[in-house]
Amino acid sequence: MSDMDTAPQKSQQIAFKAETRQLLNILIHSLYTEREIFLRELISNASDALTRMNFEILTNREVLDPDAELGIWIIPNEAEKTLTIRDTGIGMTAEEMEENLGTIAHSGAREFLAAAQQSGKQVNDLIGQFGVGFYSAFMVAEWIRVVSRSYRPDAQAASWYSTGSDTYTVEPAEKERRGSDVIIKLTDDAQEFLKEYRLREVIRKHSDFVPFPIYIGDQKEQVNRQTALWRQSPREVEQKDYDEFYQQMTLDFEPPLAHAHMAVDAPVQMYALLYIPSNPERGLLSIRREEGLKLYARKVLIQEYNKDLLPEYLQFVQGVVDSEDLPLNVSREAVQSTRVMQQLRKLVTGKVLDTLKKLATDDVEKYNKFWKAYDRFIKHGVAVELNEPEALYPLLRFRTTTHPDEWSSLDQGVERMPEWQKSIYYILGDDAQSVQYSPHLDLFRKHNVEVLMLTDPVDSFMLVRLNKYKDYPLENVATAKPDFPKEEKAEAEAESPSVPEEESKGLIERFKQQLGERISDVRMTDRLSDSPARLIDPEGAMNQEMQRVYRMLDRDFEVPKKVLEINPKHPIIVKLNALAADDPLSSVVIEQIFEDALLIEGLHPDPASMISRIQKLMEAALKS
Ligand code: ADP
Repeated sequence: MSDMDTAPQKSQQIAFKAETRQLLNILIHSLYTEREIFLRELISNASDALTRMNFEILTNREVLDPDAELGIWIIPNEAEKTLTIRDTGIGMTAEEMEENLGTIAHSGAREFLAAAQQSGKQVNDLIGQFGVGFYSAFMVAEWIRVVSRSYRPDAQAASWYSTGSDTYTVEPAEKERRGSDVIIKLTDDAQEFLKEYRLREVIRKHSDFVPFPIYIGDQKEQVNRQTALWRQSPREVEQKDYDEFYQQMTLDFEPPLAHAHMAVDAPVQMYALLYIPSNPERGLLSIRREEGLKLYARKVLIQEYNKDLLPEYLQFVQGVVDSEDLPLNVSREAVQSTRVMQQLRKLVTGKVLDTLKKLATDDVEKYNKFWKAYDRFIKHGVAVELNEPEALYPLLRFRTTTHPDEWSSLDQGVERMPEWQKSIYYILGDDAQSVQYSPHLDLFRKHNVEVLMLTDPVDSFMLVRLNKYKDYPLENVATAKPDFPKEEKAEAEAESPSVPEEESKGLIERFKQQLGERISDVRMTDRLSDSPARLIDPEGAMNQEMQRVYRMLDRDFEVPKKVLEINPKHPIIVKLNALAADDPLSSVVIEQIFEDALLIEGLHPDPASMISRIQKLMEAALKS
């Protein structure tokens, strides 16, 4: 097929795709008041076209108009009531126009459409948030004509025209210079966009950091700041500039929690401006469509979303990295494997962690906000970071049994330890509320020992790696055997009556007979005080952390049978021992003790089934 067959020879009516028609219909009839964002969208398209052009010039052999200034011109025409957005970017052929301007290319537009269909009326608020791209210009247009000429030397100029109804036309056109003119015939109620002051205002507000000069009409002075903020000296940049830059880059309405500005000369030259967004979900509010940092080589954007500069668990970081040492002429894929990239990654990752540590000491409130939003990312990092997981430990925060309403660091926990304590203790559970009742905490509570409460599913994964902090091993209270101070222990023993040594065998036998296959063993323990019994893993079984990991990875995973430990000093156990073995109440009490222990471990399959037995026990209690 020759070009002659496919290139449109004369004006040709082409129907918009159905979803484009829907989108246009919503936009044209919307009462959205901030219509000015159409200019941001068109300038952003122009900037993209220029970025791609810049790259072609640096890597390509032949382009049309190689010396044309890379810029954007906003040209109001009072007489015609038109506004033209002109760029010297890569331009489009007729085919590319059909492809790009007849369908919805913009992922934001598609998401917008889905959200608009769901929420019905409130579409007005959604338009600005999604950034609907080229079509947003129909909010202010009677018609739009795009006249464009591709950078490919042999390409023909073409024109695209539509009033925003069901169809558009594409036809050959005259245009000498490379790039695109987007000509908008403004509707009567959008005449404000012919006024220079208004255009200036909108450009400064939304497009100040677009990396190419923006001019109004034939004025020589550029309107936008166009600074590579990251290349300035941090001393010259004010907080307000950092925030504005972030806002224009992401469209995130919430200011970032922290930023870091880097200027490094060795071992590689680099500038970077990095941000911790207040929220890890880019969600509706961001125009960043993927994770990743903007990567520049000598001021030229070579990757919009680079994911190789940070480990996976830090991909929430937003920002720009720019290095003089990155090769420009190499393909984007090959950039990834260069030595320079490895060095950049090390620097950037280190800086992000330092920034977070600094935030943790300088602004506890903000850091707690960070922790609430990002705890899983950091814990995930501890579980998967191969190089230096220890670097993440100072970032961890915990709820603990003695400070349940605060976020404590491991260092704080260590500082608060009594002298005899040699380990950091933790308890695993499903939620902080129920964990506090656990029998595993009996003696810890009694001796006022702080225990970390780990109730997040990722905690088990984290613990597979985090088994020591500084000189302190981390131990699970279910298996730990701490040397609690002696004298208190003796005191406690003296006080309470206990199942006599010689009778304990018979009592254990009664439990075993009653519970049979459901448990692997029964024994007495001195590790309980307030609770009558607890379940623990038999010697040599997979530990509790791994069981949780397995349970999460495999639905059919069966928890190994537990050992029931009973507390010979607990009044229930003492009284149970005094009860005749054949008393019907005996088996009922044993069942209830066992099921209580299951419940507290989060292992009871059907807690409601206990009700009839509990009622029997109440009946028995009321009788006497
Ligand atoms: P997006 O820019 O998010 O892809 P748009 O609907 O705004 O979505 O634009 C659709 C496509 O049209 C762009 O991806 C680009 O290929 C093309 N395009 C739009 N404006 C221009 C322009 N000024 N120069 C070259 N191509 C453009």
